[in-house]
Parts: sequence; structure tokens; C-alpha cells
Amino acid sequence: MKEKIIEKVRIGKRISPEEALTLWREASFFELGALAREVRFRIHPERIVTYIIDRNINYTNICISGCKFCAYYRPPGKEGGFVLSQEELFRKIEETLALGGVQILLQGGLHPELPFSFYVEMLQSIKKKFPEIHIHGFSPPEIVHFSEISGETIEEVLRELIKAGLNSIPGGGAEILVDRIRKKVSPNKCSAEKWLEVMRTAHRLGLKTTATMMFGHLETIEDRIEHLKRIRDLQDETGGFTAFIPWPFQPGNTEIDVPKVMPVEYLSMLALSRIFLDNVKNIQASWVTQGPKVAQVALEFGANDFGSTMIEENVVAAAGVSHRLSVDEIERIIRDAGYEPRRRRMDYTLIS
Ligand code: SF4
Repeated sequence: MKEKIIEKVRIGKRISPEEALTLWREASFFELGALAREVRFRIHPERIVTYIIDRNINYTNICISGCKFCAYYRPPGKEGGFVLSQEELFRKIEETLALGGVQILLQGGLHPELPFSFYVEMLQSIKKKFPEIHIHGFSPPEIVHFSEISGETIEEVLRELIKAGLNSIPGGGAEILVDRIRKKVSPNKCSAEKWLEVMRTAHRLGLKTTATMMFGHLETIEDRIEHLKRIRDLQDETGGFTAFIPWPFQPGNTEIDVPKVMPVEYLSMLALSRIFLDNVKNIQASWVTQGPKVAQVALEFGANDFGSTMIEENVVAAAGVSHRLSVDEIERIIRDAGYEPRRRRMDYTLIS
């Protein structure tokens, strides 16, 4: 059975969720890796690994969602909560540009009091001062929150954000796109269907987005495969996802007490994602959660992209995990693995 599925992948045929499950259960670690590598080179024949210089900017950590896996947020009124001032925001963007950055990843908690106009004005002010910066911002739960506080539809919210300068949307807040799991780990966050609706609408309006999966908490392997299936189905419909980023849950300082996903499981899941998502062009390695060595091995398990330099990263760091890499280090790690490092934009066009 396993052999037939491997053969199917080798000749470029799509596999079903049931076949993905069989591969997960029956293929060895190295079989999964070798197969994912083959798919990677079919899609990207050149020995190039891309990365982007950008900075994660969290405009607030105040959040009413209270996700059980989140070590970053502060409930309203609690010590340590902040909303970034315009001055701080501009300083962070200036530093990003000075380091050769082309993009900011702008995300925050679901703040109960800031009106929708706050976000629109934030984008307008950024674009006025820094017209060249690409704003990759507001994951689907934030967009749903804006829709709820403003009384506008998701489409209306997106249209206003695009008009104000939003360039693309990150795939955060997907966790596992199965409501049974979402109810346990993030009961106040938008449903799987809403997450997909935001992405579907964004794609229809011409925005590119990424997709993520945070795994290794309370879900089963069947749930992970269901998540991959929902991403693949939407991609068939819209073609709007530029990349898929699977990353393991970091349990430190959170309310979910489970053992950490180990590298073999991470790499196997990465490989299965590459094999299953035949319509998503790019798969990112997560050096921020895995560290540089595992991320280097990930390049042999289906990943063709090293993600971002993350000049600033706060969310994973709050869970007690902090890996830092400079541009030089990222390039050296990619070269040492036998690939040519290339800088890219959000849409994966190369920067010469
Ligand atoms: S993951 Fe996001 S939405 Fe959930 S508690 Fe943390 S900041 Fe809030």
C-alpha cells in the first residue's frame, strides 16, 4: 500500500487524506524526507533557497482572546500591556529599512477598545512616511475582530485596509483548522470557516497571503491532515497562498502542558506538508522554533525557503525559545547545506 502511494507521488499525482495518513504511519522518516525532497526539486529545480529581510512588529499585546497556547498576550488592564506609539512604530520601520528590510509583519492582539479607524490610520501613516515598505499585516482573527468592532463585513474591512496600504496577509491564527481543536486551544478565536472566509475574500480582492499550521498541542494526525486538506482545497479555488509554514507549538509559559515536538516529528510533518500540498509552491523552514541546525536539515525535507531574518520576534520568544540569526548567518547556513541563498519579496520574486 505504502509503495503504491510513494509511486503516485513520484509520478506527480495528488494523494488523498487517507493516503497521507498511510504515508505518515507506514513510511520511514527517511522515505518521507526523500519523497518530499523529490517533490521540492520538481517544483524548484534550481538549488536556490530564499529568505526575506523583515521585522515582526506587534502593535499591541493586549488581547481579549486568551488563547491557551499563547505566552505573549496580556488581558486588558493587566500589567505589561502596551500599544505601540507612532514614534516607536516609525523607529522600528526605519531600523528595518536601514538593515535592508523590504517588509514588516504587522500583527497584534485583539484589543477591546481600539476602534477600526486606529488600524486604518496606522496603515495610512506608515505608507505616507515609508511608501516603499511592504505591509504584510493582520492575520484572519484580527480581520474578523475588526469586522466585529466596526459592524462592517469582512469584505468591507479588507477593502478599507487595502485602500489604506495593506499589501498582503500573514497566515497566522490558523493553528489547526478543525473547530473541535480550536474550541479547546483558542475558544474565543474565529472558527476554521471564518479563517478560510477571510483568506478567500482577500484572495478574491487580489491580496496574496501565506498559510500556517501550528501543530503538536491537542490535535491528532488526522486533524493535521484535515488542516492540510482545507488549505489545499482553498488553494485550488483561489491560488492565493504563496507559501505554507508549519511550525510546532512551543509549550513554555503557556496553559497547555504537553511535551515539545521533537525534530524528527517536525521534519516528518514538514515533509508530509510538501508532499500533500501539491498546489502551494513554497514551504518554509522554521528556524525560529527549531534552531539553525534543524532548519538546515529541513532543506532536505521539502523546504525551499528559510523564512525571514526576523529582526524582531516577540511571540515565540515569550514561550522561552529564542534563536537569533543575522543575514550573514542565514546565508552561511544555506550555503553550508549546498544551496544558493537569495533574498526575496513576499510574493517570492527575487531581489537582485
Ligand atoms: S495568539 Fe493572538 S489572539 Fe490568541 S491570545 Fe495570543 S495575541 Fe491573542
